[in-house]
Amino acid sequence: MPVERKHCQCHDTQNHFLERAFESLQLETSQRELLLSAFRETTVSIPLRPHRADDDGGELCTYMGYRVQHNHARGPFKGGLRFHPSVNLGEIRALAQLMTWKTALVDVPFGGAKGGITVDTTKLSQYALEILTKRFVQKMMPVFGVHTDIPAPDVGTNPQVMAWILEEYSKNHGYTPAIVTGKPMELGGSAGRLEATGHGVAYLTGKIAGEISLPIKSASVVVQGFGNVGFHTAQRLDAMGARVIALSDARNGVICDAGINIERAQRHVAETGWLENLPGTEPISNAELLELPCDILIPAAIEATITCDNAGAIRARLVVEAANIPVTHLADTALRERGITVMPDLLANAGGVLASYYEWVQNLQEFPWERDTVLQRLEQRLSRVYAQVRDLAHQRNTDLRTAAYELAIGRVNQAMALRGF
Ligand code: GLU
Repeated sequence: MPVERKHCQCHDTQNHFLERAFESLQLETSQRELLLSAFRETTVSIPLRPHRADDDGGELCTYMGYRVQHNHARGPFKGGLRFHPSVNLGEIRALAQLMTWKTALVDVPFGGAKGGITVDTTKLSQYALEILTKRFVQKMMPVFGVHTDIPAPDVGTNPQVMAWILEEYSKNHGYTPAIVTGKPMELGGSAGRLEATGHGVAYLTGKIAGEISLPIKSASVVVQGFGNVGFHTAQRLDAMGARVIALSDARNGVICDAGINIERAQRHVAETGWLENLPGTEPISNAELLELPCDILIPAAIEATITCDNAGAIRARLVVEAANIPVTHLADTALRERGITVMPDLLANAGGVLASYYEWVQNLQEFPWERDTVLQRLEQRLSRVYAQVRDLAHQRNTDLRTAAYELAIGRVNQAMALRGF
């Protein structure tokens, strides 16, 4: 799909979802404008000669980097950094805004931001990636800060990238672990953070499945995307007794009706780089995978994978948005009309930023928690937020997404009014 079309979809989708909530909250135009506008958008160019181990000689490439700080009414800007070839300002803008609603929904004292670099990391050496990350941090130094803007992992970034961010920022400010979350444990990362997003997705899937008479123990699950979130979601659902019948990565998918062994799939990816040729499975395309008959479909890859082109062919009872903005607004309407329940991204994948908040708190207090404490608090909070969203949806006779947006927007709007924005 062309990048431009995807970026428009991302933006349009977000606006349509917001409009529904704005109408319901009866917000004035001036309030809507303020809620929609970004506080600051920073674009930087990063020159690098990526094809030489020593960054000396070879072809000079210029990479574009972004940080959109959407809203900080409720606390410092918070959100991930995405390293992907499709990254552009429009996409980052929509994702930054989504972080504002997500942090408000789970009621952590953060605002929303997102950033990234337009880059295909598979074409860079580890050394080139390290230099690129550190130059990005140098240029973003004025906008990052422990009490102003705290980055984290997203698509294409991982604890190692966060460690480089910590190192580069600390060169200017002294050792500062609280500047970034999703770090390795050795550098002040939180126990449970790596698996937190997937753990939360699986936990909430179990909760909602129980309420729509879909016993998780006999449920068939399809997961699109096998990065950190897809893997941990599949692993946890498997441990909860569900049958994960299909998985996919950026290239292709694999299917096995009897259920896929998730650990074996992970080992295979670690060895070969891809899910392709996973023993005991048959190949399937990403498009076919989304249309498989199953109980639960979990898009855990990138945005706009379920569109008006394939929404009519989705055969799941429940769609859980582990990725950010994976369902376009037209597809969302089509799924709702067909009676398919959708657990929205700002709720479904909020375990990630929730654990990031716990990590930040541990860093500020210089007092690490046990993994069980982190995951117990995570489950308790997600359970409470889920109940709030479900009850509001019920009360207003609306869908979970609109209810989640209403709760989140209401909180941000109130904070802005109190602060006199
Ligand atoms: N990138 C994740 C998200 O989209 C996590 C953000 C964070 O932990 O700050 O929610």
